[in-house]
Amino acid sequence: MATRLYTHPIFLEHITPPGHPERPDRLRAIERVLDDEAFSTLERVKAPEGDEATILYAHPEDFVERVRAAIPQSGIVSIDADTSASPKSWQAVVTAIGGANAAVDDVFEGRAANVFVAARPPGHHAEKTTAMGFCLFNTAAIAARYAQKKHQAERVAIVDWDVHHGNGTQDIFWDDPSVLYCSTHQMPLYPGTGAKTETGAGNIVNAPLAPQTGTDLFRDAFLSRVLPSIDAFAPDLIIISAGFDAHHRDPLAEINLTEDDFDWATGQLMERAGRHSGNRLVSLLEGGYDLQGLAFSVAAHVGRLMKG
Ligand SMILES: [Zn+2]
Repeated sequence: MATRLYTHPIFLEHITPPGHPERPDRLRAIERVLDDEAFSTLERVKAPEGDEATILYAHPEDFVERVRAAIPQSGIVSIDADTSASPKSWQAVVTAIGGANAAVDDVFEGRAANVFVAARPPGHHAEKTTAMGFCLFNTAAIAARYAQKKHQAERVAIVDWDVHHGNGTQDIFWDDPSVLYCSTHQMPLYPGTGAKTETGAGNIVNAPLAPQTGTDLFRDAFLSRVLPSIDAFAPDLIIISAGFDAHHRDPLAEINLTEDDFDWATGQLMERAGRHSGNRLVSLLEGGYDLQGLAFSVAAHVGRLMKG
């Protein structure tokens, strides 16, 4: 079985203001690097349009309708200080959710060894009732609940190595012990949450990293906190909130990871997916704002996924 890549041209049509780091060029950079012959066996699939009803797995209806009503007919509107929407943003976010849910179907129905979904907007800052931090809806959270409802997954682990804490995912699963949320992130940094003491129902594992640290502390956080938590939880599915903004080139943070660290972390999670989850692993793009750092990191990540 091959590694699958879901993407869609609509993801380029979620337009952010000039100079905004979360921009369509991010996906173009990923597309270019995956054009290399090394990725010729990667199975490229157009993300299907998502089922809007699945948004309600993570967000209440009045909030969903509030976001829908905010989508402009033309131009760009601000949802919060750094989150915006353009006319095609609804279709983009619903297709991002469609890709993530289809990836879950693929790994449960044996159509793919594992899947990477290259979509935007990202999702991990979106709380139950708040769109923020470039995110409208929480794609990873929706996909986790989708796996539970559609495929009877009892336990889903979400591992978030984006350099920012996934406050949205933590908020959604705060009192839901059927989902384990593990995050490595820089602290202090936006959005300000993610202290070790935030543990939810015992299902939240935060491993904050001090600015100007890198490989050693990141790998130590994985080995001492993230991986043992996964072993204790024995998930039926592992979802990665794969942000690549902890790369040393990234302009939004001060963690000094390299492509090799993302290769290594991917391998560790694949090993755990093999041990506990029937190899079921779905990776969803979150952040990553230096185009070269992002492209090289995605190449290392997807290259590792393809090694099986
Ligand atoms: Zn981030």
